Amino acid sequence: MDVRRRSSLKPSFKNHVSDNKMFEAKDKKVVDGFVPLSLGISNGVFFTVFFSVTYFLLIRWREKIRNSTPLHVVTMSEIAAIFLFVASFIYLIGFFGMSFVHPTPYSDDEEEEEIEGDVNEIVRKEDSRVSSCGAALDCESDVVVKHLIKKDLEHLPTETVVTEEDEEVIKAVVSGKTPSYSLESKLGDCKRAAFIRRVALERITGKSLDGLPLEGFDYESILGQCCEMPVGYVQIPVGIAGPMLLDGQEFTVPMATTEGCLVASTNRGCKAIYVSGGATSVLLKDGMTRAPVVRFGTAKRAADLKFFLEEPLNFDTLASVFNKSSRFGRLQRIQCALAGKNLYIRFTCSTGDAMGMNMVSKGVQNVLDYLQADFPDMDVIGISGNYCSDKKPAAVNWIEGRGKSVVCEAIIKEEVVKKVLKTTVASLVELNMLKNLTGSAMAGALGGFNAHASNIVSAVYLATGQDPAQNIESSHCITMMEAVNEGKDLHVSVTMPSIEVGTVGGGTQLASQSACLNLLGVKGANKESAGSNARQLAKVVAAAVLAGELSLMSAISAGQLVKSHMKYNRSTRDLASKA
Ligand code: ADP
Repeated sequence: MDVRRRSSLKPSFKNHVSDNKMFEAKDKKVVDGFVPLSLGISNGVFFTVFFSVTYFLLIRWREKIRNSTPLHVVTMSEIAAIFLFVASFIYLIGFFGMSFVHPTPYSDDEEEEEIEGDVNEIVRKEDSRVSSCGAALDCESDVVVKHLIKKDLEHLPTETVVTEEDEEVIKAVVSGKTPSYSLESKLGDCKRAAFIRRVALERITGKSLDGLPLEGFDYESILGQCCEMPVGYVQIPVGIAGPMLLDGQEFTVPMATTEGCLVASTNRGCKAIYVSGGATSVLLKDGMTRAPVVRFGTAKRAADLKFFLEEPLNFDTLASVFNKSSRFGRLQRIQCALAGKNLYIRFTCSTGDAMGMNMVSKGVQNVLDYLQADFPDMDVIGISGNYCSDKKPAAVNWIEGRGKSVVCEAIIKEEVVKKVLKTTVASLVELNMLKNLTGSAMAGALGGFNAHASNIVSAVYLATGQDPAQNIESSHCITMMEAVNEGKDLHVSVTMPSIEVGTVGGGTQLASQSACLNLLGVKGANKESAGSNARQLAKVVAAAVLAGELSLMSAISAGQLVKSHMKYNRSTRDLASKA
């Protein structure tokens, strides 16, 4: 059937799919590599019939030769046997690919008609890139192409009506006439843009996106903010650890992870802290940094600017220029480093409840524009010169801090160490000294004097919409353990100089991440005291790391690590498939 004629009726994919359930079921089973039950039974019957009648006819033939009976003299049973022989033979040669005998699900005339009814059949009928298995495809066979056509149907948003216009856009994207990135602005409908991009992508690549959901996400919410050219979203399970008793308040910590054991282990740490009276935290610093690199003709001129910027008398002027960019960005410090005639200027500012990268960058740009008047020979090479330092392991963050610098501590009672953590204070202290301190020193660690701070930081960051790439410096942590109260109890602390978090901006405004922030009571901007929500979140991150450190260190000291990972981190199915 002509696709254009069909599409002019503006069929909805939803209806089309439901109209063709039989085709779908058969198609799916074959594609998945299963033989349908009815097919299995009929194969069995025809095999049995074929071999029985062949045997019967051979016996009859031999008897006729022995008795000298003419071959053309046949009984009713022999006629029936010959008929069954021919029928079963015809059926069986279908196994050798003779489709006129045993139609495959894809070659059945009726079903072909149904496929043709789909606008997606344009792929096979009209788009030579796909139907001819051209260069853009994996060339996995026609069956794959048909499978993808089928998958196009499955992915469709239930309420989406695929109009002729949609199909035209899909074709335009596939042919390269319409850039995929322009779909949102052209269509003015982010969800439809994502759907069209997705179908076009499947056709172009020959790869199925089956399993990557399209439905259930607000694509408008990420436009111009979180992600370009979306085709779906990745699902990460969110578990909860807690209650975490921190500074006298209870928190339930959301953790998005696919690492088995992690939430369970952090939860155990929370319990140990809770029953020991809770953890205490202190925010030591709160300032986001950005460091542009500027170049001069001589090292002397670069040094002139360094002295100018570090002169306390100039600070107020520079701060008022910087602070114009935002109600929340307040310049705190300017720190310079010279490399020949190049100058790296590290600006630090408070950023309210925002993580603050945009805010600090805007302020820095203001100052650079201002400086140009007094230093016209200053050549701004880049707004970021890596002395900031963002998303790279760097000693400057470990020593000076970036974002929120937090220390969090707890005293874990001797009996809690024994009953909840299943180890002893002495062995925890010894392990911490030899692993987290000495072992990391031997490894030349940079801020990595901990067991697995990054595990907890990443999981909380993903759940609460933080920038997961900042896990690098945010996970800088030194874990200390000491026997106190005459050696009976355990003093444990984590010191984390660069926790980069925010409760406004970026991914924090997305529905699921916002729900996790809400669970912690730090959603959005704090109306009474700007920045309090972000600072509280940083403290919760540190407390969760404290719990994670306690639990993992205990598991290692008690020799339980491998056992518990085998229990929670490896499913039986995984093990079976690997065995
Ligand atoms: P970032 O600087 O972390 O990249 P954004 O620039 O995306 O964050 O988000 C910060 C925006 O949120 C700014 O425009 C700022 O004016 C606004 N905002 C509203 N309330 C607050 C607040 N309490 N703290 C910080 N920013 C806030």
